[in-house]
Amino acid sequence: MPVEPNPPAPAPSDFIRDIVAADVTQKRYAQIVTRFPPEPNGYLHLGHAKSICLNFGIARENHGRCNLRFDDTNPAKEETEYVDSITADVRWLIAGWADHCLGFKPNGASPARTTVNGQSDNYLGPVAPGANSEPFSASSYFDQLYDYAVELIKRGKAYVCDLSPEDTDSYRGAPGRPGKDSPFRTRTVAENLDLYTRMKTGDFPDGARSLRSKIDMASPNMWLRDPLLYRIRHTAHHHTGDKWCIYPLYDYAHCLSDYLEGVTHSICTLEFVDHRPFYNWILEKLGLPRPLPHQYEFAKLNLGYTIVSKRKLLQLVSEKYVSGWDDPRMPTLSGLRRRGIPASAIRAFVTGVGVTKFDSLTEVSVFENAVRHELNAAAQRRLAVLKPVKLVLTNIPAGEILECAATNNPQDANPTTRKIALTREVFIEADDFAEVPPPKYFRLKPGGEVRLKYACIIKCDEVVKNAAGAITELRGTADLTTRAGGPNVDKKVKGTIHWVSASKCVDAEVRLYDRLFNVAEPAAEDDFLKVVNPRSLEIVTAKLEASLAAAKPEDRFQFERLGYFALDKDSPVGPPLAGGPRLIFNRTISLKDTWAK
Ligand code: ATP
Ligand code: MG
Repeated sequence: MPVEPNPPAPAPSDFIRDIVAADVTQKRYAQIVTRFPPEPNGYLHLGHAKSICLNFGIARENHGRCNLRFDDTNPAKEETEYVDSITADVRWLIAGWADHCLGFKPNGASPARTTVNGQSDNYLGPVAPGANSEPFSASSYFDQLYDYAVELIKRGKAYVCDLSPEDTDSYRGAPGRPGKDSPFRTRTVAENLDLYTRMKTGDFPDGARSLRSKIDMASPNMWLRDPLLYRIRHTAHHHTGDKWCIYPLYDYAHCLSDYLEGVTHSICTLEFVDHRPFYNWILEKLGLPRPLPHQYEFAKLNLGYTIVSKRKLLQLVSEKYVSGWDDPRMPTLSGLRRRGIPASAIRAFVTGVGVTKFDSLTEVSVFENAVRHELNAAAQRRLAVLKPVKLVLTNIPAGEILECAATNNPQDANPTTRKIALTREVFIEADDFAEVPPPKYFRLKPGGEVRLKYACIIKCDEVVKNAAGAITELRGTADLTTRAGGPNVDKKVKGTIHWVSASKCVDAEVRLYDRLFNVAEPAAEDDFLKVVNPRSLEIVTAKLEASLAAAKPEDRFQFERLGYFALDKDSPVGPPLAGGPRLIFNRTISLKDTWAK
């Protein structure tokens, strides 16, 4: 069934975009600035794609910008490998769509330590994307964050606390039961400044002291019971090396990083609702001179049969359930890319599911259909046989090549064709032949006829078997009068099957993927590793039409009647190797959803 060319999608609308639109109307900010703030402790997944597309989408729709910022305040879990993969994944996802909004900072730049109206400010200023650019990172603001903490101490809003981590916890109380003031809460400003300086210069071991905000130990909101601002960690940081032995906590660093970058709308997920008062408290208590950023929360993406948690995905990698973060079965952006899923399909999907304030589970078929929709329009059609059985057409002389015209993409406005070779020996799909066919079987059977797509009608005359009774080849005849241009081209048969020439084909390893989990909500299991689908990968040696030898990694193909396929990154580029197929294809997705069966 022909589909219409993609109509321009209507601009998305949701409660966050409504807030932004109102701020634009009221000219509250000179420019709309958002940010995507991953912690570099794993690879990005589909859930992150939702956040990326929301933040970059808002920037794009409002002539604004969106910063990629690493929230790298915890040196223990963070690695450069993750910084690099995240940067590449974000660039890939927004390429050609919102890269003009990407607020990359010039190499090496860190905010000027300026003052506005006599107040410390440090605004980074608007920055243009450029070839020599690198993403932002919270760690590049450590100097400013330190200064802001000094300012909080001077304003009597922060103190150095000597409680152990365990005592800090027990003093905090519980929801519904007020906490207790730390005995160190009444230290003088001078004493706090001295101790905080010495925390920085390394005078104390890990955990000996912390810097805490002074808010309210009886607050009904646990996040306002003097939350920590800084802790001591004698650990090198992937970005700042050995410079620091105190590190800011996420909540403290986040709002100030937003402010330094001129972020206007700081969008995060629902678990941060309770943190919002603290976010605002810090910014307000510092009496900052420019308009403050505001935090808004939306529901995370949860997807059926899929895990969206870096921690659990890391477990799949480290315990070798998959070959790596970019295993094509992984819901990571690098896995999805390797599998052949276009960035446009991911953007269409995460935008289509919408932005709400309520947690829900999106059916995986919604994602799969978005992928099919994009690939149906984009993919070049090719013939390939995954589980081949040989068919000898005895009336075609050996060595003869009959050229047939095959359509490249019927979805194109003006579809083009390519030539494929019909020869004496062809391969057909083993599944397309039944020696004892069930009722209403329209594919090939002994004495039956089918059309070989783009070629002609053929008849099966003989089934050849080996001593063990297994089929070794089929023999039949081609009715060449039913070829294009022939007198009987209009002859009808019920079945049409795909095929490739046995002498004009290439071998390929084809990796057939299935869902990685057996249940719709693997994250809800006590042990999600127990519901890993043991049959999520099947490898076959397939026969492909010869033109596929020239496939490039970025090409998208539909193998007719089978699904969508793309070259794997393991597929060596260059001349065929002796022994073993050179080509490796991944099945991106089947043509139809067959999971229910
Ligand atoms: P994970 O639990 O997988 O580690 P995270 O939220 O801890 O995710 P971050 O690196 O902190 O990962 O996330 C960066 C941004 O992506 C945050 O703003 C976060 O809210 C958002 N995000 C993470 N997971 C999802 C999701 N499933 N749906 C929508 N946004 C998400
Ligand atoms: Mg996180």
